[in-house]
Amino acid sequence: MVKAEGVHKSFGAAHILKGIDLEVAPREVFCLIGPSGSGKSTFLRCINHLEKVNAGRLSVDGELVGYRQKGDKLYELKDSEVARKRRDIGMVFQRFNLFPHMTAIENVMEAPIQVKGETKAVARARAERLLDRVGLSDKARNYPSQLSGGQQQRVAIARALAMEPKLMLFDEPTSALDPELVGDVLDVMRGLAEDGMTMIVVTHEMGFAREVGDSLVFMDEGVVVESGHPRDVLTNPQHDRTKSFLSKVL
Ligand code: ATP
Ligand code: MG
Repeated sequence: MVKAEGVHKSFGAAHILKGIDLEVAPREVFCLIGPSGSGKSTFLRCINHLEKVNAGRLSVDGELVGYRQKGDKLYELKDSEVARKRRDIGMVFQRFNLFPHMTAIENVMEAPIQVKGETKAVARARAERLLDRVGLSDKARNYPSQLSGGQQQRVAIARALAMEPKLMLFDEPTSALDPELVGDVLDVMRGLAEDGMTMIVVTHEMGFAREVGDSLVFMDEGVVVESGHPRDVLTNPQHDRTKSFLSKVL
């Protein structure tokens, strides 16, 4: 579903991603861990067309991200083409950034109506199903300010799912939450995983990675240091950098 081959990304003189190679299979829950500044968010942003890679190949569902290939030449995609591709990828951030002037259900209905031109009735029916799925049927008419952080994050997940993405990216979705609210959000993610959603999850929740993850990659300073089954990497890390990182977070 996602394939990175020698992906490099720089911001000016700062070389952030230094040749990332990895592959995420369909229906896989792929966890990404690493120290602050190692490039995890940057990598997710490249997948989601929020950043352009400088070198290497990055593809989603067999299509290059940001470029079209003709023969052996690459052409940059137009903004409209990028926007169309981005629709297929859902992203959930650390901060929930819901639209504050819209209720929970309006937040979930917004993109399908605005972007896909869906009717309100169709968008509402789906939004009701999705709010039910994240356990918030009774909060549909609440504004974000009337929801806890965990509830807002679950609305944000429902909102991303409303576009029926083929891939979901999570960037530390629980790290801004009070500890007692983390579990509900992880449960929603676990449910998504059970339903077969392909997910890339940047997280510090090692319990989630171990129980739900199919693969775990440890990234440091813009390279993949170690990868494997979460249980193997977490219990038997091979590299000193992985060991040192895990000793701080476990
Ligand atoms: P964290 O765990 O703190 O979220 P991260 O692994 O997600 O860290 P990134 O956000 O990808 O790290 O940042 C990696 C490096 O890239 C950092 O040094 C950051 O300052 C730099 N960086 C990220 N975005 C930009 C940008 N738009 N312009 C310049 N530098 C950037
Ligand atoms: Mg980050």
